[in-house]
Amino acid sequence: MEKHMTVCPYCGSGCKLNLLVENNKVVGAEPLNGVTNEGELCLKGYYGWDFINDTKILTPRLKHPMIRRSRDAEFEVVSWDEAIKFTASRLAAVKAKYGPDSIMLTGSSRGTGNESNFVMQKFARAVVGTNNVDCCARVCHGPSVSGLMVTLGNGAMSNSICEIEDSKCILVFGYNAADSHPIVARRIIKAKEKGAQIIVCDPRRIETARIADMWLQMKNGSNMALVNAFANVLITEGLYNNDYVANFSEGFEEYKATVAKYTPEYVESITGLSAKEIREAMRMYAAAPSATILWGMGVTQWGQAVDVVKGLSSLAVLTGNLGRPNVGVGPVRGQNNVQGACDMGALPNVFPGYQSVTSPEARAKFAKAWGVESLPDKIGLSITDVPHMAEEGKLKAFYCFGEDPAQTEPDLNLVRKAFEKLDFMIVQDIFMTKTAMFADVVLPATSWGEHDGVFSSADRGFQRFTKAVDAKGDVKHDWEILGLLATEMGYPMKYKDTKEIWDELRELCPLYYGATYEKLDGLGYIQWPCTTLDAPGTPYLYEGNVFQREGGKALLFASEWRPPLEKVDAEYPLGLCTVREVGHYSCRSMTGNCVALQTLADEPGYVTINPQNAKELGIRDQQLVWVASRRGKVIARASITERTNVGAVYMTYQWWIGACNELTVHHVDPISKTPEYKFSAVRLEAIADQ
Ligand code: SF4
Repeated sequence: MEKHMTVCPYCGSGCKLNLLVENNKVVGAEPLNGVTNEGELCLKGYYGWDFINDTKILTPRLKHPMIRRSRDAEFEVVSWDEAIKFTASRLAAVKAKYGPDSIMLTGSSRGTGNESNFVMQKFARAVVGTNNVDCCARVCHGPSVSGLMVTLGNGAMSNSICEIEDSKCILVFGYNAADSHPIVARRIIKAKEKGAQIIVCDPRRIETARIADMWLQMKNGSNMALVNAFANVLITEGLYNNDYVANFSEGFEEYKATVAKYTPEYVESITGLSAKEIREAMRMYAAAPSATILWGMGVTQWGQAVDVVKGLSSLAVLTGNLGRPNVGVGPVRGQNNVQGACDMGALPNVFPGYQSVTSPEARAKFAKAWGVESLPDKIGLSITDVPHMAEEGKLKAFYCFGEDPAQTEPDLNLVRKAFEKLDFMIVQDIFMTKTAMFADVVLPATSWGEHDGVFSSADRGFQRFTKAVDAKGDVKHDWEILGLLATEMGYPMKYKDTKEIWDELRELCPLYYGATYEKLDGLGYIQWPCTTLDAPGTPYLYEGNVFQREGGKALLFASEWRPPLEKVDAEYPLGLCTVREVGHYSCRSMTGNCVALQTLADEPGYVTINPQNAKELGIRDQQLVWVASRRGKVIARASITERTNVGAVYMTYQWWIGACNELTVHHVDPISKTPEYKFSAVRLEAIADQ
């Protein structure tokens, strides 16, 4: 049996593992002693590999390029030569007729690797001529990047996953670690075992709430009010670090004025919490010798997410919990390489290495390296702009690479209508996803397990992964496909391997320059910034309390609380919140094709509801129900549980039948444009037994 070292393709924990291979077929996985996982894996790591083998449980692997010559025609299998010529000519025609900004492209935060994301954004900028390139960070931690860039000057986790267990207080805010990142959850448990105090702010009784010293069961949609009240307590009770604030931050007076009205008593009705528990939580947080704040989608998938991220980072600044080990702010990135897609510039506002597209120096540097006269200077569109831009006829072509927005975006009816309006749509993937059904051309790529590369874990850690098996079918590496298309469009682009791409991007990105393939060999783990060849990387940011903002000081920021956009009423009396589940991942195209994981649950998916609401509605446990919102209606199975709070229901978003995004509202944060997946007004109706 062969063993091939790789990194798990699911969440951002960055677990290192061996794929076990017999006769060019993956037959198992075993954990390795990686920096973040230390010989452990969760069930997705152990059992989430056989989608590579084309199990066809949910959908078959794509094995040949396919095109549709018209929208009502069937897909036909074609040669790569024909597929590339067809795609290049149609894309070039759209560009010539409507301009480069009529085309939208995506990076992929999943198993493809940093190198392919680098090549994709280069294709967008140097070949198409647009900054309309984005990735699914937009729908998850986009607000963390936007918010932290403003307050601290760096959008990533400040400290390392392995430091969590040595923090003496962990404030877990809107983050269900057990389902999202089981290996991070283990660090929280270890911290507890080492004597840390745990504070959980979450409407649901999530796993971490069970071991918490304090569980603040706040109302859905009250984040900003609670964060402001936390700040109010720290200031009015004199719990903040006066010296740290004076020396290393700015904006204190304005901040103090904004939070002044958010006394714990004032926010009681907004948050559903008592003033006493709000005060006690902050006394606990402020008293700890080291404290870490971790957050997830419960913070970022709201219409006021960026403000809340800024507010949470301000709590760390107020208490001096930055710039040293075992403290900090932790937006724990969801998908395995969503940090990497951002690192590689699959974002509309930055080149790789977070170099702004509006900087003439950065544009000149990249243009020179890429051999083009100029690069676009206008910040591009976001993924969440696609529906309305297509609807308005301003977006004509969409190149969707390793994403499935027809399953994962809010208000799917709107998404489908937008796709139908496009002149041309390309899908590059490993599976025939829901989005691929709308494509004019489908380009089949190699999968994780079939190619090499580097991923970035949630804490800025670069790790190499390697090919385990030869791909079956007429498929190509993502970066090869992009090179062929670029060349056909008149921009010769050919790479020998991923190392050649990695070396090009290292040369262009001072933050990553020292992270060579050689240093990343084996279990190598390098956290950026790593600016020189002999540097080991940076486990924690802001050493010496120097922040990456002009003047070097952190910004304290607070904002007035805004309620969720949708209101519950007599017709739609419950608030729907979308969540993750531990056995499945994202749009499920990968985990849904894994034998062991698929047996964990069957479609339709679940809607969890509190016993009180279920009784009022006459719903029994496991009964089929309709879940309806102002946008659509889906079937689901009721799961009655005390863990769900009264007035809210929860659905996971990976089910193809009963997709919860048929129901969700397309309302976005005004800065990050991240959708408010966490609150849509719905009603439930029991379906009578047949
Ligand atoms: Fe580790 Fe996340 Fe993979 Fe589980 S899903 S093995 S926690 S990387």
